[in-house]
Amino acid sequence: MSISKLFAEKNVVFSFEIFPPKRDSSIDTIWNTLEQLEGLGPDFISVTYGAGGGGGKSYTAQIAGAIRRKYGILPLAHLTCVNSTREEIKQSLADLREEGVEDILALRGDRIPGVEPKTDFPHASDLISFIREEGGFSLSGACYPEVHTEAPDPVTDIRNLKKKVDAGAEHLVSQLFFDNAAFYAFVERARIAGITVPIEAGIMPVVNAKQITRMVSLCGASLPQKFARMISRYEGNPAALRDAGIAYAVDQIVDLIAQGVEGIHLYTMNDPDVARRISGAVENLRRA
Ligand code: FAD
Repeated sequence: MSISKLFAEKNVVFSFEIFPPKRDSSIDTIWNTLEQLEGLGPDFISVTYGAGGGGGKSYTAQIAGAIRRKYGILPLAHLTCVNSTREEIKQSLADLREEGVEDILALRGDRIPGVEPKTDFPHASDLISFIREEGGFSLSGACYPEVHTEAPDPVTDIRNLKKKVDAGAEHLVSQLFFDNAAFYAFVERARIAGITVPIEAGIMPVVNAKQITRMVSLCGASLPQKFARMISRYEGNPAALRDAGIAYAVDQIVDLIAQGVEGIHLYTMNDPDVARRISGAVENLRRA
């Protein structure tokens, strides 16, 4: 079954995101993480691809294959195109086929400072069209409730998103956000623009102070007053910040599910304890 079909069957799709280890020597840690995530019953698990500009690139297909074979969970393999040629993408598709992976989150990827981007696929929609022509995969795309950092305005960003869906994206996963109102307004804009595919809300539990500055500078998520107050109060107390960050994420998820969101994509940061605490807190909501 492809991921987009899950949405027809489930009240709320609940998925996790993990990232491959940066060093070869750390690959065992990902198997330990997956052992623990398996028991939480996610509908699918996505695996990032070279996020942050490098590292772990070659493990995405291998880890996604193991998620399917070893744990019997649907994998969603991320694939970026900004630094790849057509031939390199063909090779990545062959690797995914060999691993039996059928769902791809097709992304442009971030430009690496000082590295000239390749020109075969300028946008994610170009990658989506290409994979669709190659055949054999179901495709997902990324979306940005608070507008992609390079987009000139929200209208242009939504128009570009529509191109991605028209090219063949059957499901969208959102960038993280801390303000649910921004997500609701975005979904409304998308629906008005004729984007009808399921949109999953990306939730990132903030469990350490370092994470916040990095994330906000990368994705430009706005910080509601309630969130900012929580951070400034507990940033010097790691255990309290962890509890508060988890509670904030749970609060966001409860509101999203109550408002009828189609799916929650939890950025687990490879931390099974955080995933377990959040999954446990919303277990009955997933079924209600
Ligand atoms: P695009 O859809 O190509 O959009 C990028 C920009 O170009 C936007 O401003 C858009 O408005 C504009 N645009 C799009 N199409 C057109 C067009 N046809 N004409 C003109 N302008 C256009 N990065 C990684 O490196 N690895 C990962 O695994 C990874 N996973 C991610 C998962 C999620 C859920 C999200 C939200 C992001 C992820 N990223 C990952 C980051 C992502 O690669 C960056 O945000 C990147 O800057 C944009 O990728 P995109 O696929 O959204 O690009």
